Amino acid sequence: MSKYDIIVLGSGPGGYVTAIRASQLGFKTAVVEKESLGGVCLNWGCIPTKALLKSAQVFEYLKHAENYGLKVSGAEHDFDAIVKRSRGVAEGMSNGVKFLMKKNKIDVIEGYGTLKAGKKIEVEGTEYSADHIIIATGARSRELPSLPQDGKKVIGYRQAMTLEKQPKKMIVVGSGAIGVEFAYFYNSIGTEVTIVEYLDKIVPVEDDEVSKQLERSFKKSGIKIKTSAEVTSVDTSGTGVKATVKTKKGEEILEADIVLSAVGIKSNIENIGLEDVGIAVDRDKILVNDFYQTNIPGYYAIGDITPGQALAHVASAEGILCVEKIAGQHVEALDYGNIPGCTYCSPEIASVGLTEQQAKDKGLDIKVGKFPFSASGKASAGGNKEGFVKVIFDAKYGEWLGCHMIGAGVTDMIAEAVLGRKLETTGHEVLKAVHPHPTMSEAVMEAVADAYDEVIHL
Ligand SMILES: Cc1cc2nc3c(=O)[nH]c(=O)nc-3n(C[C@H](O)[C@H](O)[C@H](O)COP(=O)(O)OP(=O)(O)OC[C@H]3O[C@@H](n4cnc5c(N)ncnc54)[C@H](O)[C@@H]3O)c2cc1C
Repeated sequence: MSKYDIIVLGSGPGGYVTAIRASQLGFKTAVVEKESLGGVCLNWGCIPTKALLKSAQVFEYLKHAENYGLKVSGAEHDFDAIVKRSRGVAEGMSNGVKFLMKKNKIDVIEGYGTLKAGKKIEVEGTEYSADHIIIATGARSRELPSLPQDGKKVIGYRQAMTLEKQPKKMIVVGSGAIGVEFAYFYNSIGTEVTIVEYLDKIVPVEDDEVSKQLERSFKKSGIKIKTSAEVTSVDTSGTGVKATVKTKKGEEILEADIVLSAVGIKSNIENIGLEDVGIAVDRDKILVNDFYQTNIPGYYAIGDITPGQALAHVASAEGILCVEKIAGQHVEALDYGNIPGCTYCSPEIASVGLTEQQAKDKGLDIKVGKFPFSASGKASAGGNKEGFVKVIFDAKYGEWLGCHMIGAGVTDMIAEAVLGRKLETTGHEVLKAVHPHPTMSEAVMEAVADAYDEVIHL
């Protein structure tokens, strides 16, 4: 039987990053994967969606080339080619992980892995043992009983990025990051899109002002939005789909070619041997302590399969921390209050920390600053004046409680707030840190200045 120091079950951004860090720390490491290296993120999530969104963005630029003094006639899109490009990008990234496994001398065990008692994993008839087993089996699209996915007319995210034919009409159920990214993509290439959101605003986890701005932008671009609305049933018996939607005003039937269910994820906890080993699970998630140890010594869990934000960078950070702790390093528990969340539709959204409402609900005395991109030179030059940066500080101590952005390229700007908060910076320090001109990032400095009544360009 092959014996390792560490075996990681699953090779998503949780699993493969964990394996690399483990190898760097000197552990003999193997990773077990039943599909493609890189997991959902590289193959079916973060990366292929961003490739689709890039095609949409380029197409938008071409359609509005005259805004930049350019003449482009007959700009057309080729749906097959867009999908093919996205798949190619994903494949390239997955191959990159293969290279990294080799470079770091990590054994890749291909096949379906099942946990066994005694710190063992069985992969298709062969048993492997390790001192430490890290479970990183991730998640899949969640199915609602009222919205069973048939993979053809009622689909999840995987099918949404590999459709053979572009739908004329699409209903997107759920307006979290996945829902609005697909809504934006399909709308921009000419599909008629309706978003149905159960809560009273789209992108419900975001600051209220961000949700309102996105709703305005989406409506302007032709996306229909129904909030406080629920799909109670779907009829797929005809050529298309008829969805019964319950709103405050009553029930209505919406017709479409495709319904995309984007209502969250379901952890891959079934049939991986958790019960045989006795690993405790609570409401779809494996229970872990601050360093990702399960209730059974020698077994750990990280990524989407554990509580905490279901994001690639969270999965990676958890895995690194987990193996550094195993290696005996002095590590601090992850601060889940300082995890950035990004949404890559247009305009983009990026946020970290408390929303204004959350800060108020906590009874905090706050200072709020906001700077619109309409007042930014770089945004004007780039033709991207939509959106703003909003910052929230504790009035007494100057602690940076939250930062919320919506606009072009903001997903590349949020790290400033994450780092500032990590280093416990105050508003005055951000203000005195000179930002380059002209950049979109100046809007962060100006929003902070606004919170302290020192804003220059408003
Ligand atoms: C459409 C979409 C877009 C997204 N966009 C973003 C984004 O922009 N940014 C972001 O941060 N996050 C994004 N996410 C979320 C991100 O993809 C996940 O948070 C991340 O992939 C979780 O990583 P993980 O390692 O926990 O699991 P996964 O990436 O799900 O990987 C788990 C791996 O384990 C393998 N596996 C499972 N069971 C077994 C078994 N028994 N034996 C062998 N192998 C097994 C699976 O095949 C898979 O490869 C997106 C998700 C989706 C669906």
